[in-house]
Amino acid sequence: MERHSEPSGSFPGYHDLRARLNLISRQPSLPSTYLFWGPEGTGKRQIALEWSKSLLCADPGHPPDRPCDSCRLLTPDCPAEHPDLLLLPVRNEDSADKEGHILIEQTRQFIADLTNAPLYSPRRVGVVNNAHKLTVPAANSLLKTLEDPPDKTVIILITHLPDALLPTVRSRALSIAFPPLPRTEMEQILDRLSPGLPPVEREAILFLSRGAPGQLRNLLAAPSTRNLLRQIIGLLVTFRDKSPFDPDSVALLSDEEGFTLFLDTIEALLLNLYRQDASVQGDPVFERESLQSGLAGRLPHLKRAFFHDRVQQLRTLQVHNINRGLAVEELLWDWNEAIGSQA
Ligand SMILES: [Zn+2]
Repeated sequence: MERHSEPSGSFPGYHDLRARLNLISRQPSLPSTYLFWGPEGTGKRQIALEWSKSLLCADPGHPPDRPCDSCRLLTPDCPAEHPDLLLLPVRNEDSADKEGHILIEQTRQFIADLTNAPLYSPRRVGVVNNAHKLTVPAANSLLKTLEDPPDKTVIILITHLPDALLPTVRSRALSIAFPPLPRTEMEQILDRLSPGLPPVEREAILFLSRGAPGQLRNLLAAPSTRNLLRQIIGLLVTFRDKSPFDPDSVALLSDEEGFTLFLDTIEALLLNLYRQDASVQGDPVFERESLQSGLAGRLPHLKRAFFHDRVQQLRTLQVHNINRGLAVEELLWDWNEAIGSQA
């Protein structure tokens, strides 16, 4: 069974940030506009919705099994059902153009709804997801509201691209940063959500998540990706001196997803080697069980640097029409040769 230190179903991590938000919501008069910003997968939207629940609660401190009239209406699956919680866009697919822009008509409706008096709650909360998608006219019309916010309103802007917002909009909001989580915290989350992973797979998942618990959760919930990841790791950590790879594996890694994951995994292994070098106590990742003689001693620095450069290069080239199958064979060949030559 999984154990959670957060309420069940809640987004993992960010305890200090949650504590800060709780303090803010307890102030008698709180700032009206917030900018939640940070990389994708850091839970900005989920935590905004969690926080909205406490901002909307009509009777803070009531027991969870006896919700107030406001909390009763907040179902996690459909937060938009609460009349005092307004979402822009209402659903993410709710936009009139292909780029998913938030248009001025939608924004005007959102502002008009926000101006109405709250029905069940002490205030109304408006959440603008992907605020960088506001068109300039939409952003300008929102700016007027931010400059002169209606009474009893909280507006939360969410973005992973804060620089794409109008500076005038940014400057009106209290900045709440969602940084990537430190490695130790990501390790705790991973070990809680999925205990007992093989060391190299654990390492690859940590790397691929890039400090974002949402990415980590997505990876854990994607069996086909994890299956592919296991196969890639198997290819990379098991040195075979003859027939180092088979055509099926090459084919598997030649589609876009496989290729990207392959490059990511090589990078994870390389970064882990650097970390291992820098760490006094060594690292449990390359225990004997995962790689017989340890990758560390077998992959010299120069070769690591070469692989790293080549991975970066292939990432850039991938947007053009390169032969991914050939690139996979090239990398596997060099990888095996580099390790084999050290044996
Ligand atoms: Zn309540």
